[in-house]
Amino acid sequence: MKKLQLLPVGPVDARLLEWLRQALSEKFRVPAEILSPALDPAFALHAERQQYHSSEILASMQRYITGSTWRLLGVTQLDLYIPILTFVFGEAQLGGSAAVVSYHRLQQEFYGLPEDMDLLANRLLVEAVHELGHTLRLTHCHDYRCAMAPSHAVEWIDIKDSGFCEDCLARALEAV
Ligand SMILES: [Zn+2]
Ligand SMILES: [Zn+2]
Repeated sequence: MKKLQLLPVGPVDARLLEWLRQALSEKFRVPAEILSPALDPAFALHAERQQYHSSEILASMQRYITGSTWRLLGVTQLDLYIPILTFVFGEAQLGGSAAVVSYHRLQQEFYGLPEDMDLLANRLLVEAVHELGHTLRLTHCHDYRCAMAPSHAVEWIDIKDSGFCEDCLARALEAV
């Protein structure tokens, strides 16, 4: 049976990654494993921005995809960007096999607030489900509670559910 494979990109909190593995495995009803060693994303660093180009990371992740890959999800604590945007929470190949998600800006500390691991874990799950949804050919959804709703700030993530609305779920099941 094919597996959801989680690939750490740079140093990642091991407990958070293991929690995410279990949560995604239950959510998508697919076995999930964590690959090692982590991908070193130094090649994707933009020296001036001090951010990592998510599209370059996605391109480099392709070599990890094998016959046993259901989907490949890169997980990073590093700050990601694409050239036209200040930052991105993640990026995915629409209908492809790979996606990457960052929890850099999902951490309360980023906003000068006290650490909250439960909140961080929930935000990361929502965003991981969102990016994996794109690999299942889902586009953005108008239902603000749906995991496929667009989010440009953490406040938007916090009102989302970690699941798909009925319409998105039906479309996702067609794609699998
Ligand atoms: Zn999206
Ligand atoms: Zn939806």
